[in-house]
Amino acid sequence: MNGTRNTPVELLYAEQQEREEQALAAIDRIAHELIEETSYISHWGGDVPYDSVIETLTERIAEILGVTTPPANKRLRKRESFTARKSLAVFKRDDYKCVFCGTPDDLTVDHVYPWSKGGSDGMENLQTLCASCNSKKRDKVPNKRLGSVAS
Ligand SMILES: [Zn+2]
Repeated sequence: MNGTRNTPVELLYAEQQEREEQALAAIDRIAHELIEETSYISHWGGDVPYDSVIETLTERIAEILGVTTPPANKRLRKRESFTARKSLAVFKRDDYKCVFCGTPDDLTVDHVYPWSKGGSDGMENLQTLCASCNSKKRDKVPNKRLGSVAS
């Protein structure tokens, strides 16, 4: 009896595990590249195609794993297109300043009530935040809604 020698099943299992780890690392790498790129685009007020990217990624993973995914219209909530023009309208309404700290630097458009939690892309749910306040806020849900400031 030799407890230290691996059986063929154990070797196969280890090999599978290694492949799984490699696959996960690859997904991780892609996800990080994606986040970097999309945050860069949204920083400059661009239209970030999260939905189509996530859809493609989900379909590709499903294809590799050999499983079927539900149709896109059942999986994803439809959203209004979020354009650079809209970002500009939000900046303009908020006087090109962060509504939290007032800085005019590194402005981003933020969802008051996070889109991921059901918030809309309507002007009333959008506010100007600097990158620093935005990262502090994250996806926290506010206690009270900030009304649109009439100027
Ligand atoms: Zn700020």
